[in-house]
Amino acid sequence: MDMKENKREKTPQVFTFSTNTWYGLPVNITVSSNNLHRVTVPGLALPHPGLVNIISRWGLPTEIRLALTSYHELGHLQTLPVPALHMLLLLWPRKGHLVGPNIWRWLVAILTHQVVWELAAECYVVATDRRAVKDYRTPMARGLYYSFWSGMAALAVSGTLFLLKRNNDKSQ
Ligand SMILES: [Zn+2]
Repeated sequence: MDMKENKREKTPQVFTFSTNTWYGLPVNITVSSNNLHRVTVPGLALPHPGLVNIISRWGLPTEIRLALTSYHELGHLQTLPVPALHMLLLLWPRKGHLVGPNIWRWLVAILTHQVVWELAAECYVVATDRRAVKDYRTPMARGLYYSFWSGMAALAVSGTLFLLKRNNDKSQ
C-alpha cells in the first residue's frame, strides 16, 4: 500500500488539451510536471524540455504550473506573427544586409528572434491567465520571475537595436 502510494507520487502529472489557433491551426499540447512537453500540429510533433517554463513557474503549485506552461506553449503558436514580423524587420533587404559571412551577427539574430518569441508567448500567458502574475509565489520566486523576464526584454531590445544599428552603419 505504501509502495503503491510512493509510486503514484513519482508518476509525473500530465495536462493535455486540443484547440485551434486563431488562424485555424489544430494543435494538441501536452505538458508534464517532469518538464517534458509536446506540441503537436498536423504532420509535426515537437517534444522538448521546458527550460523557460521551469524558471517562469518556479514556486507555483503543480496545477497552476501545468496550466500556465500549457498556455505558454500555445502562446508560441498564437503569437507566431510577432516573431515572424520581427525576423522580417531583421532580414528586410537594405545596404549592409544581415546576410553575409559574419556568423556572430547571425547568432545574435537567432538568439534575439528566440527571445522575442519567448516574450510574446509569455505575454500571451499573462493576458490569458492572471494566475501568471498573482501572488502565488514566494518573494524569491517572484523576484526570479520578474528578473528573468526583465532580462529577456533587455536582451530583445538590445539585440534588435544592435542588429539594426550595425546594418545602418554598414550602409553609410
Ligand atoms: Zn517558450
